[in-house]
Amino acid sequence: MTDSNILKNAGLKITTPRVQILKILEDSSHLSAEEIYQISLKKGHETIGMGTIYRVLTQFENVGLIKRHNFESGKAVFELNDSMHHDHMVCVESGEIIEFQNEEIEELQEKIAKQYGYELIDHSLVLYVKKK
Ligand SMILES: [Zn+2]
Repeated sequence: MTDSNILKNAGLKITTPRVQILKILEDSSHLSAEEIYQISLKKGHETIGMGTIYRVLTQFENVGLIKRHNFESGKAVFELNDSMHHDHMVCVESGEIIEFQNEEIEELQEKIAKQYGYELIDHSLVLYVKKK
């Protein structure tokens, strides 16, 4: 699907900042608003102000295009919402964000919710790590 179609499907009008921010998030995951701003500058795009970036990110989040993560070690980071479910590890020293998937953990979480009489509908799991 083209970026324009993605925006249209999400019910958003196509604007230059929206297309640019979407492209940047397609190229890399887990970016902060500040990082998106820096990448946009480096690409020589017509300058998008931080205010616009925050606004577009909030719009994208509201329509479910992206996910916001508030990891403890830093500022909010954003990623597209189109990938397979995954959990995150955050290195407390370098700030690096590692994605992982583990079937056992997935099943265990469902089991725990069930034990408490609930059905698991979503979860977010973050491991804070440092290199050995
Ligand atoms: Zn991720």
